[in-house]
Amino acid sequence: MAIREIRLKGDEILRKKCKEVKEITPKIFTLLDDMADTMYAANGVGLAAPQIGILKRIVVIDVGEGLLELINPVIVQTEGAVVGDEACLSVPGKSAQVERPEYVKVEAINRKGEKIVVEATELLAVALCHETDHLDGVLYVDKALPNTETIWEDEK
Ligand code: ZN
Repeated sequence: MAIREIRLKGDEILRKKCKEVKEITPKIFTLLDDMADTMYAANGVGLAAPQIGILKRIVVIDVGEGLLELINPVIVQTEGAVVGDEACLSVPGKSAQVERPEYVKVEAINRKGEKIVVEATELLAVALCHETDHLDGVLYVDKALPNTETIWEDEK
């Protein structure tokens, strides 16, 4: 268990496309543990592997309903649209409004190699979209609505 360094916007690794996980090895278990540790230490609700410099399709999310570990997540269905504030551990001190689906359905595998399906709305739906985007080198700032950026007071 370890806290890893979070890569920040401007780091090229955040712009790369991540590779699918073909085999769940002990190294993947360590990575999942470290990602959760790093996310909780930073008070985040989600973290994608490229944010700690690992180009694998893995995300961890906890919106207050327990830890979700998703390997090779794929958004298979979306419905509706809703605009909300978003922030990212790789873009510290800022937030902006982004339009996301109201409902998403995601298929992934868990650390046991079992297929799991997650259906979500509200914050979990946003987190699933945001973190899945990271795996394709996309940051929320790419999708932010114009003139909606807020810079947090204590970071100015
Ligand atoms: Zn992010």
